[in-house]
Amino acid sequence: MNIVVSSRVSEEFYNAVHEGCNSFPAYYSRLNTTIALGPRLHSVFPDLRKDWRHLVMMHRGRTDTIGLAEYGRSPAPDRPLSKNTRIAEGIAHETGHVFDFRVFGNAEQKAYFSLREDGPFLSAWVADLADLQAHPELYESLDVQFARHMKRGGSGTKETFAETWTNEHGYSSLKHRGINDIRPLWPRCTEVVQDCIQSLG
Ligand SMILES: [Zn+2]
Repeated sequence: MNIVVSSRVSEEFYNAVHEGCNSFPAYYSRLNTTIALGPRLHSVFPDLRKDWRHLVMMHRGRTDTIGLAEYGRSPAPDRPLSKNTRIAEGIAHETGHVFDFRVFGNAEQKAYFSLREDGPFLSAWVADLADLQAHPELYESLDVQFARHMKRGGSGTKETFAETWTNEHGYSSLKHRGINDIRPLWPRCTEVVQDCIQSLG
């Protein structure tokens, strides 16, 4: 992973990103991903959709770039800016997408591993989802952000891969939402992600 500064950030933020990157296992050296830093996400991606500008991180598959912003805010328009303190967990989640796309999937064919029709992850996700939907009491009390893992059409599947990956690496990108670990709710998906990690040696 290469850290570049797209636009000025504090030394404290830069150092925290550096530290976060160094906390990952040796197989992370397989990534050529650029981690681009800026004060806001649209300082890194000037063409960013207006309704996504409050976000603090995003992975763009086609350029293999993770944008990390030092400041963001909650989507409500009247909320003040706050400092991004979810750095290592953010990198863990976004690199989960990178591994899904570039290491286990096929970036040239724009094919995510987690979405492969004949692959183990999609069938695991479908089976775990069916179990969850039969027991709404398991997730009803969780923050609304949990629902993004259950979305059909590809995005839910990819998010489940990235977040179980994050949990396997000791982080939760939803900790600020009171969700520390989604793995108990996605047991088959978790097994596939563990197999993926094991295959990296
Ligand atoms: Zn994601």
